[in-house]
Amino acid sequence: MTQPHSPASFATRAVHAGRDDLTELGVHVAPIDLSTTYPAADSAAEAMRMDEFAAGAQPAGSPIYARLHNPTVARFESALAELENAEASVAFASGMAAMTACLLAASQGNQKTHVVAVRPVYGGTDLLLNSGLLGTNVTWVDADKVAAAIQPDTGLVIVETPANPTLTELDLAQVAHACGDVPLLVDNTVATPVLQRPLEHGASIVLHSATKSLGGYGDVVGGIVACSETFARGLRSVRIATGGILHPLAGYMLLRGLATLPIRVRHASENAHELALRLQADERVAHVYYPGLNADRPGTNQMSGGGSLVSFETVDDAKDVVLGVNLITPAVSLGSVDTLIQHPASLTHHVVNSDDRAACGISDKLLRLSVGLEDVDDLWADLDQAL
Ligand SMILES: *Cc1c(COP(=O)(O)O)cnc(C)c1O
Repeated sequence: MTQPHSPASFATRAVHAGRDDLTELGVHVAPIDLSTTYPAADSAAEAMRMDEFAAGAQPAGSPIYARLHNPTVARFESALAELENAEASVAFASGMAAMTACLLAASQGNQKTHVVAVRPVYGGTDLLLNSGLLGTNVTWVDADKVAAAIQPDTGLVIVETPANPTLTELDLAQVAHACGDVPLLVDNTVATPVLQRPLEHGASIVLHSATKSLGGYGDVVGGIVACSETFARGLRSVRIATGGILHPLAGYMLLRGLATLPIRVRHASENAHELALRLQADERVAHVYYPGLNADRPGTNQMSGGGSLVSFETVDDAKDVVLGVNLITPAVSLGSVDTLIQHPASLTHHVVNSDDRAACGISDKLLRLSVGLEDVDDLWADLDQAL
């Protein structure tokens, strides 16, 4: 008797997802398709396929035009969907293009232009929501007030956990319950699917800035949304209409990045945890923020590791630490193989109104460290001299 086929472990899927047909194709790595247009002689048949693409489906056959579909990008999409345990995923030119498409897809054609969101979120997301640029209006609430803030026209609830840059954690099952029928979008950029899979805790949409850990080497910009096939169709329609597509070369690099995602994230997470402990024991540091560092945490078992970000408040001027590092690069962004440090109040969260910033815990003394794969003692030596 044959054993039922067991689903492969996460690490195995990270290496093989999106590549099932390569052997059949007679190649070992994913081909890169750079075509902007494709032969399409049967006009009547193509007209029908045009309609299908516009409605967000992915009909077999010629992609017709690169803004409608790209086979290399589709590999990255199917791989990420597999890692997030989602039916589908849709890739975009950047994390903010992905967020834009989510806001448009959730509000178009149904008058559901109201969004409920919990601070802190990424500075760009905060700005996009607050600006009302896409015809949405936002109510900012604490995590325990989500249910009360939902209105008949609420189309989306948006949260980040751990939140950037304070690493505040939310209990996703609790928030998902509070959302009722309204889709819960979780920005999972910081945790990655290695440490946390929000769909398993009741969320309906997962967003990534693929620019960060998914890419992993600081050399590619992209965004991706994992969700149901129904929501994915809405996203693809928006993507075709607005043009925020991921370039096939970026799709190739992101697929390649997924193969090493588990080992990169786990190792960076171990480094970050060790640095968080050393910072916490240091008298030049006033406070350390790191998931799981202090025993009392919501959503226990939601994350299987603390992640690669550590934030901390200094006793003296935080900006001097950024000036003093040598090995560590003073720079925004996160999730790369190398360690970066930045001052959120001046950079990533500068666009957030200063009162709102202070209210959600982003003080002028706060620094955010994105920990890479260097030797932890070398990283500590650099931080120690900078402090
Ligand atoms: C960087 C980032 C974004 C925006 O992504 P881009 O790729 O820069 O557009 C969104 N959310 C989080 C948590 C981020 O770190």
